[in-house]
Amino acid sequence: LYVEHPLGPGQSVELTREQAHYLFGVMRLTVGGQVALFNGQDGEWQAEVAEAGKRGGVLTCVEQTKPLQRPPDLWFLFAPIKKARTDFIVEKAAEMGAARIMPVQTEFTNSERIRQDRLQAHAVEAAEQCGGTFVPEVADLQRLDRVLDGWPEGRQLMFCNEAEVGSALRLAAHEKGLPWAILIGPEGGFSQRERARLTALPYAHVVSLGPRILRADTAAVAALTMWQQALGD
Ligand code: SAM
Repeated sequence: LYVEHPLGPGQSVELTREQAHYLFGVMRLTVGGQVALFNGQDGEWQAEVAEAGKRGGVLTCVEQTKPLQRPPDLWFLFAPIKKARTDFIVEKAAEMGAARIMPVQTEFTNSERIRQDRLQAHAVEAAEQCGGTFVPEVADLQRLDRVLDGWPEGRQLMFCNEAEVGSALRLAAHEKGLPWAILIGPEGGFSQRERARLTALPYAHVVSLGPRILRADTAAVAALTMWQQALGD
């Protein structure tokens, strides 16, 4: 269970109404019952139900069962598309170990804004689902050009470009130890200007995901798989 609360030895954790409903109403736990907790910072803790009520309850942390497992330093940049598909992309990026998820606005992106809080909640659920102890941060929508203007020194970029044929992710040894980012475009692809800028970046690795033009959500999963295969742990 994800909680927004510090976790540590003997720490009491007050439950929200929804959490109490889930634990005591749905999971039927009672006082003395055991729950695994994580908050994205302190690893996983085994906790015991100290008080159980309809509208709330209290858990007490007993012992740490997993340390915080930080994923590799990977940013996942994508242009938001339709709501359900954007939700899917965020969920899969969180499951597959992105450390930071960054929706970016490109020339052909239709959405002007995103519901950052909703997407962050999807990232929490995805981390819960795969037993992770880390929750990636979902950033607010930013313009791709602005992100590139402030690009941090040394971070490599896997630029997924369907116009590129047969280029796999080829790495020099030193690139394995560096922070990385993956970029997936919107349904309409990148503009000529964006494509020219992206391919000219000295830190960009232009990559094909095969001969077919994939939907952006499919491309997201394929790119994350390719990156994990080459660089994940
Ligand atoms: N420009 C295209 C068009 O309208 O014909 C389609 C863009 S595709 C639906 C969305 C994004 O997925 C692309 O911008 C790219 O980042 C990624 N993508 C899809 N298929 C790909 C492939 N075969 N290789 C690399 N990237 C791909």
